[in-house]
Amino acid sequence: MAKRWVYLSRNAKETLTEVLGHEPALDEMKEIFGGKGAGLAAMTAAGAPVPPSFTITTEACVYYMETGEFPEGMWEQILEAMQDIEEQTGKQFGDPENPLLVSVRSGARQSMPGMMDTVLNLGLNDETRAALAELTDNEWFSYDAYRRFVTMFSDIVMHFDREHFEERLDELKHKEGVRTDPQVSLEGMVGLVQEYKGMYKDEFGEPFPTDPYKQLDLSIRAVFDSWNAPRAVAYREHEDIPHHWGTAVNICTMVFGNMGNDSATGVAFSRSPSSGEHDYLYGEFLVNAQGEDVVAGTRTPQQVSLEGSREWAERQGISEQERKSGYPSLEELMPDVYAQYLRIVDMLERYYRDMQDMEFTIERGTLWMLQTRTGKRTAKAAVKIAVDLANEGIISRTEAIMRAEPEHVEQLMRPSFDPDAEKQRIARGLNASPGAAVGIAIFDAGRAAETARQGKDVILVRPETSPEDVPGMLASQGVLTQKGGATSHAAVVARGNNIPCVAGCEEITVESGNRRFTAPGGMVVSEGDTISIDGFTGEVFLGAVDLIEADYSRQTDLITLLVWADEVRSLGVRTNADYPVDARRAIDFGAEGIGLCRTEHMFFDERARDAVVRMILAETQEERDQALDEMLPFQEQDFEGIFEAMDGKPVIMRLIDPPMHEFLPPREELIEEVTRLRCTDPDSEDLAEKEKMLREVNNLWEVNPMMGLRGCRAGIMYKGLTEMQTRAYFQAACRCAKRGIDVHPEVMIPLVGHVNELILERSKLEEVAQQVIEEEGIEVPAIFGTMIEVPRAALTAGEIAGHAQFFSFGTNDLTQMTYGYSRDDAEGKFLLQYVERGILPNNPFQTLDQVGVGRLMEICVEDGRAANPDIELGICGEHGGDPDSIDFCHRIGLDYVSCSPYRVPVARLAAAQAKLRHE
Ligand code: ADP
Ligand code: MG
Ligand code: MG
Repeated sequence: MAKRWVYLSRNAKETLTEVLGHEPALDEMKEIFGGKGAGLAAMTAAGAPVPPSFTITTEACVYYMETGEFPEGMWEQILEAMQDIEEQTGKQFGDPENPLLVSVRSGARQSMPGMMDTVLNLGLNDETRAALAELTDNEWFSYDAYRRFVTMFSDIVMHFDREHFEERLDELKHKEGVRTDPQVSLEGMVGLVQEYKGMYKDEFGEPFPTDPYKQLDLSIRAVFDSWNAPRAVAYREHEDIPHHWGTAVNICTMVFGNMGNDSATGVAFSRSPSSGEHDYLYGEFLVNAQGEDVVAGTRTPQQVSLEGSREWAERQGISEQERKSGYPSLEELMPDVYAQYLRIVDMLERYYRDMQDMEFTIERGTLWMLQTRTGKRTAKAAVKIAVDLANEGIISRTEAIMRAEPEHVEQLMRPSFDPDAEKQRIARGLNASPGAAVGIAIFDAGRAAETARQGKDVILVRPETSPEDVPGMLASQGVLTQKGGATSHAAVVARGNNIPCVAGCEEITVESGNRRFTAPGGMVVSEGDTISIDGFTGEVFLGAVDLIEADYSRQTDLITLLVWADEVRSLGVRTNADYPVDARRAIDFGAEGIGLCRTEHMFFDERARDAVVRMILAETQEERDQALDEMLPFQEQDFEGIFEAMDGKPVIMRLIDPPMHEFLPPREELIEEVTRLRCTDPDSEDLAEKEKMLREVNNLWEVNPMMGLRGCRAGIMYKGLTEMQTRAYFQAACRCAKRGIDVHPEVMIPLVGHVNELILERSKLEEVAQQVIEEEGIEVPAIFGTMIEVPRAALTAGEIAGHAQFFSFGTNDLTQMTYGYSRDDAEGKFLLQYVERGILPNNPFQTLDQVGVGRLMEICVEDGRAANPDIELGICGEHGGDPDSIDFCHRIGLDYVSCSPYRVPVARLAAAQAKLRHE
């Protein structure tokens, strides 16, 4: 049998089953018929009213792209299919009595804006136009259809810009003194068609093609060619759609929504694409209109359902009276059609098992379905729809878990602008990276970084951004650019780093040199003025708009979904929290313990700071012990708060790990100061003190502080420091236990590279813990483990595991040391370029490098478990909240991941998805 290039919608699935030798799944149908073609076939098979149609396969397109010719046999199959449609409709293509008209529609596997548009009303010429007028008893309509066809064919097939035609129509409307197309006179329309054909002839030197089959042939070629049009290629690059897929072509019998007031055309979603609600149909339509009129924005569309219509009127400030007479719903206008539509929607949702976005046309009271596809939706709607579909029994709970995307959950946890806040909107651009941000406008990346360092919130405003701007972008709360689209440098960097971004805001004019931008209406925003940007909507506001934290407790659908996820996952989810308030928040978000509490953050507390400096500068052990005694209460207080919040759950306290110099004034500053004082005030006490400080800073000074006296090394070298921390920790634990709190203290010794470091620190600290427990007279468990963040530790895990009750991968440092990158320097200097140029697949500090760092982790897990089967394994680097990295952690068999509180929900979902994916 000759190869099939053409499939009739009425039996497409059966025919494909024969060809393939098995019944095709929906995805397989989409592969061959494209999304639109598969939809037409599916709707026809389900019994929905679809105008007779057929699909030319994506394979034919691929053949055409390779050879520039139609494959052998394709045209014959098209003729056969046309004949079949003619029989179904009782009309004939090109017939001067009863002509068949068709649309030619492109349709790739995935919906692709940026591809070819659709040609409607194909098959018209002077004769068939006359027949159409006769048959419909509507001369005006026939000319309207004809002028639309000439416009679309010239524009889409011949690339003779639509604007030339629209211009003439506008002139005509102006001349006749009318506003909308349907008001144009019949004579006007007749003249317009004449004029259009003349324009075509002038442009191409030959008359407008009258042979319908020639029209068809050229249109099909145009659809195939459009696959490689620059904007389609660019879109695929951006969306990662393979170039070899090709597009299908759908030939579909025309139905007319523009045949009078009993005709209409529209689109509807089966559920709200913004909220996911489905108490009614969400959609719009226009009476007496064709095709794209609804989205063209020249007339105000009406709402499909009554309830939707009432809500719409309220928002628009339109009275019920006016709504009913001027903008009635389809439900009111054509109740039978509406009821039929509801039944079809239900059927299609069950077939596709997802929310549908559907195009329809009503021709003289008869409903026709023209397209159905899975509808795009917001994060909120995505979660609600998944949960609702599972509750309705349309999909399973596991499918609901797999359908929610981690990015959706991430978005739902981000702060947004208070909808009730006062706002003064000054411009709107592209919503390039989600999130809301408030800050002062700064027009230069260097100054932005500097201002941010002074602790101010900054919005970086640039005409556009380039790699030099990256450090400034990373330091900003948000980024606003005048130029560039969703794939511009600004947008890509912002999305990759979770920075809200409004890009391509062409309404403003940025003058970086003058440090200001001008918004519509001449409003000037100068450097230092506060602005707010909304990366969800692309809006820019003057002043500070109130932010509200994502209110997790009210997101009932998300909570439901995550409870389902909890039932599935085997990976635990803990949180990284340094303060009681973070710990409490994380518990609300579902954390099952603390995987990392960084104690040095407590030392940065203003009140403790002085004691910390004295501890470092101490010249005798006595002085040092005194300072440590002063520090202890600060630590203990915070630990108690954390134990309270984590009642019944494990808490890992990591012993101090800062580069010590961070507590002291910068060396350069001290040198300057001392030099100045030596000249101006050589005998002052101030100078003596500064000189002493400088001596100590010089002592501590390290060429590479990231690899200096850190982690357990600080504990080993500063006698009394980690003892103090351990004492504070166990005092807090014991005191909480006495108050009836169920405490599970775990002590983590950081940055161990050799087992002896661990042995030394652990035995010393275990003694302290035992001593406190005896003093307090209450038993609490005391668990000791280490952080794996030095490659040597991972490689010698067999040795280390014998002395540790748990391991926690500190993948931030582990990545730094495995790659030999210092993170701060790398991200500011070359790393983003590396990613942009494809030298690295992604930023290893955001997504775990599974091949390298991950290999070390695997070795560590294997050797660690072999030496100590009871060892508990977790991860507490930033990767613990990254979905891909979580998948890896699941695969290598970790017990838990730990991440910042706001990422706990994402981690719960990702852990469940990992489990389901690898079951
Ligand atoms: P897109 O891929 O942009 O959605 P479509 O092929 O769906 O393009 O068509 C564009 C517009 O033309 C839509 O409004 C669609 O409903 C309408 N349309 C397409 N084919 C027909 C037809 N045979 N009869 C009536 N309207 C049609
Ligand atoms: Mg469409
Ligand atoms: Mg570390």
